[in-house]
Amino acid sequence: ARPVVAIVGRPNVGKSTIFNRLIGDRLAIVEDKPGITRDRIYGISDWNGKSFSVIDTGGIEIDGEDMMLKSIRMQAELAIEEADVIVFMCDAKTGITLADEEVAQLLFRSGKPVVLAINKVDNIKKVEDTYEFYSLGFGDPIGISGSHGTGIGDLLDAIVNNL
Ligand code: GDP
Ligand code: MG
Repeated sequence: ARPVVAIVGRPNVGKSTIFNRLIGDRLAIVEDKPGITRDRIYGISDWNGKSFSVIDTGGIEIDGEDMMLKSIRMQAELAIEEADVIVFMCDAKTGITLADEEVAQLLFRSGKPVVLAINKVDNIKKVEDTYEFYSLGFGDPIGISGSHGTGIGDLLDAIVNNL
């Protein structure tokens, strides 16, 4: 079986956009488990001769700050269970939020390899907006832009290095 890479992060950081960039048109399975509405989408990606499955964990969107935190926690726990490598995605435009810190704690405790991707770095000047994310404790933040496709190669390098 292919190793599994899960993209985790709060709503609106760009998980689905990056997921599509990573898998192109290789959407493998759409699985909707009964009981919970969780729209978990799997795709396949290859880089440097290595093949892996990618999960977009962002299907759960519930209104309200409290429910949002709950659903994000759930996603992170699912990802921790299933994934060999976790892509923790944050947003350069908003900076670090409470929800990001919650996810960071869960991921940190899991001991799984985490690649920290900061999306919405839409131009070179925005790179400095990624520096604050060092404080999350996952090493070098990788600046990416789902809109422009920049940094995706660096993200794939980091993923494959952790497989
Ligand atoms: P998700 O909720 O984490 O899956 O995020 P989405 O992929 O649905 O994206 C949320 C919003 O952010 C959408 O309006 C996207 O068009 C936008 N978005 C995604 N990537 C970028 C990016 O690199 N730069 C900017 N400026 N917006 C982005
Ligand atoms: Mg999404």
